[in-house]
Amino acid sequence: MNESDLIGRMIDLAAERIAAHADELTALDQAIGDGDHGDNMRRGFAAMAEERDTIAALPLSEALKKAGMVLVMKVGGASGPLYGSALMAMGKAGGTDPCALIDAAIDAVKARGKSDTGAKTMLDVLAPVRDAVAAGATPAAVADAADAAAEATIPMRATKGRAAYLGERSIGHVDPGARSSAIIVRAVCEVLEES
Ligand code: ADP
Ligand code: MG
Repeated sequence: MNESDLIGRMIDLAAERIAAHADELTALDQAIGDGDHGDNMRRGFAAMAEERDTIAALPLSEALKKAGMVLVMKVGGASGPLYGSALMAMGKAGGTDPCALIDAAIDAVKARGKSDTGAKTMLDVLAPVRDAVAAGATPAAVADAADAAAEATIPMRATKGRAAYLGERSIGHVDPGARSSAIIVRAVCEVLEES
């Protein structure tokens, strides 16, 4: 697969998976948030899928920036600006080194969300994914690490985002943004494995 096909395929699969899991994401957000995460993500990724050919025709860095802008405009909620800044930062970082790209995404989410790992957010998936990639894990192993990291948010107490208002009551649920991150990471990894 050339770069353009890879980007297009990643958009297709991520949008398909987010749509397939939208109800699950909504249910998770109903438990510890306001129940809009599934709709937010489905809307954003559907908009990205609509622009698929335009985005896929761009060099990777430009494609990431454009995809990030679509998410900022369409997702809404806290997660739209967070995922959007993450993709735009990856585009700005440039290059194709996966660790450098994920680092840029993590730094952007930390800065935009004024948060860090351990706060029961998407960062608790992105950071372990970075570590797995840095350790040379296969795409399949990276996807499994992402799922495990999302599950590992269950016993955490949220200190950032809407779930933080629940305090102790945020314990016992998967964080919705951690779950959506794991879904996206798996889609990207499956495309990389196919290629
Ligand atoms: P909202 O909270 O505005 O309803 P969403 O429901 O779409 O937005 O997204 C919620 C998810 O966003 C959370 O599950 C969490 O993973 C992530 N999130 C929220 N606030 C932050 C933050 N400050 N830093 C990192 N991630 C955050
Ligand atoms: Mg929400």
